[in-house]
Amino acid sequence: MIDYTPLYSALQHIPALRPWLAQLPAQIAAGLDPRRWGDLPDWREALQSLPELTPSRLDFGPSIRIGRADDAPESQRALLEQQLRRLHPWRKGPWELFGIPIDTEWRSDWKWDRVAPHIEPLARRLVLDVGCGNGYHCWRQFGAGARRVVGIDPSAKFVAQFYALKKYLGADKPVDLLPVGIEAVPAPLRAFDTTFSMGVLYHRRSPMDHLRELHDTLRPGGQLVLETLVIDGGPGDCLVPEGRYAKMRNVWFLPSCATLESWLRKCGFDNPRTVDVSTTSLEEQRRTGWMRFESLADFLDPADQSRTLEGLPAPKRAILVANTQ
Ligand code: SAH
Repeated sequence: MIDYTPLYSALQHIPALRPWLAQLPAQIAAGLDPRRWGDLPDWREALQSLPELTPSRLDFGPSIRIGRADDAPESQRALLEQQLRRLHPWRKGPWELFGIPIDTEWRSDWKWDRVAPHIEPLARRLVLDVGCGNGYHCWRQFGAGARRVVGIDPSAKFVAQFYALKKYLGADKPVDLLPVGIEAVPAPLRAFDTTFSMGVLYHRRSPMDHLRELHDTLRPGGQLVLETLVIDGGPGDCLVPEGRYAKMRNVWFLPSCATLESWLRKCGFDNPRTVDVSTTSLEEQRRTGWMRFESLADFLDPADQSRTLEGLPAPKRAILVANTQ
């Protein structure tokens, strides 16, 4: 479905990534195995049916804009929209392609606005984005000057969305998405200058292991950017929902910021600090024409929006940064 050979050639020139490169072809084949993803042939067909169009401009945010409406005749734009819609649901964005806005479930640009002021400048950095979804933030990282961005996400549909967009963003750009999870990164790689883990930690059954895995991806003196769900409270406080949380079955640990900072120190990080805390609004996460499933409004108590349907604290997210020694 996707030609990774240019990536393999490029990674040959990054010695720190060579240990991973040897394993990548097998990992990618497993990640895109049609026996795992029944709809994969349909996504492949959607990618192959995308019209050949050349954008007259690229704009890496806040809405990532590719080309202008004038760059393509109406019939081609209709074909493009039809193929992109086959990759529903579109969760992370916003995007605009040849004048077609993809109004995604999340205003991922708002998260980026909260993150960007607090991180070490990305210019010339080698970046890993763990659990990057369809790669919206990878392009923001590239737009901020990163030398190369490697996104990883085990969901093949998001990988298909990424390559549908990359067709127009430029096949030669040093930004890629691998269909693998964090477990696939050989430890300790110690290769990346900045590693992002945003919206992933609370899905991990073992948060300490996740933090150790993230630590092992970074070179000494590298920076971790961690974003996850938190609760109010002090050192030691942590919520482990016994049943669902906001209808999600796969939510494990929601620590307080103080608890999370102590976890980071325990896992070997230097100087962890919370740089932002914000409650997710119904404007930031909502159902749209490009994401027609349930969204935040359906997960909150209609009588009390400070609670989830299960009576737990409504989603509040924190951004923490920390360094490796
Ligand atoms: N980072 C993006 C997307 C968060 S959604 C953002 O902040 O907007 C969480 C993503 O983590 C999903 O796309 C999911 O497929 C991915 N994910 C789940 N398990 C993972 C794992 N083991 N390793 C890496 N990513 C994982």
